[in-house]
Amino acid sequence: MHPALIDTHCHLTNQKFIDDVDAVIAAAQEVGVIHLMTIGTGIADAKACRALAKRYPNVISCAAGLDPFSCHEAGDRFDTALADLDDLLATGAYRALGEIGLEYFHHLAPHEVQQQQFEAQLDLAVRHDLPVVIHSRDAHPDVLTILRRNQKNRGIIHSFTGTVADAHAFLELGWYLSFNGMVTFKANDELREAAAIVPNDRLLIETDAPYLAPIPHRGRRCEPAFIQQTMRVIAEHRGQRVEDIAAWTTRNARLLLSLP
Ligand SMILES: [Zn+2]
Repeated sequence: MHPALIDTHCHLTNQKFIDDVDAVIAAAQEVGVIHLMTIGTGIADAKACRALAKRYPNVISCAAGLDPFSCHEAGDRFDTALADLDDLLATGAYRALGEIGLEYFHHLAPHEVQQQQFEAQLDLAVRHDLPVVIHSRDAHPDVLTILRRNQKNRGIIHSFTGTVADAHAFLELGWYLSFNGMVTFKANDELREAAAIVPNDRLLIETDAPYLAPIPHRGRRCEPAFIQQTMRVIAEHRGQRVEDIAAWTTRNARLLLSLP
């Protein structure tokens, strides 16, 4: 028997799942994944996520946001996209605003522009009283600065990567940290150390499928069913049973994201 758990971050509307999304969901359910949060990275994607969630009531929830790539794509039509996002969130179909944040690894819009667009969406989350899913790549200091001046927001640092000190900084501001398959990669001792210090009541687990498949699937399309490998490694490094990790992360996801 697999313990019940929730994948708080996957992209089931991604092209890579276009042919077999139902089989992918069934495979996840077979290994104990009772709920999946599919993340819309832009307006069209968020609509696709909503349609999928509608087909799977109580199994799939969705989030909507303008990620740094969508913001970049919108260019000078960002305000229109933001208004569209506002309308989507007003439907009540979304459990979170995201993913949004800062992407400094890829060369997208200038950092100041990304920061403004990130903060505009943080304001929107406050207005809709929704938790936020944050994407922070090579940008922790600026994300932290922004979160320090937006303390009305709550939510998840998704696909967390960083040091123990980074983890503490986000935790002190009240954020949840979500770990994915990267925690299984051989070179990521530092990340495993960070995963070990997160309090039980702030820990979340995700796949970010189709990206970042855990070992032994590394390099292949990631699927929500692979969350088991990630959970095992997290449990081992925290000195806990997988059942406890499953129970805590499920409780946390339900509480923060108002999931069934
Ligand atoms: Zn993602």
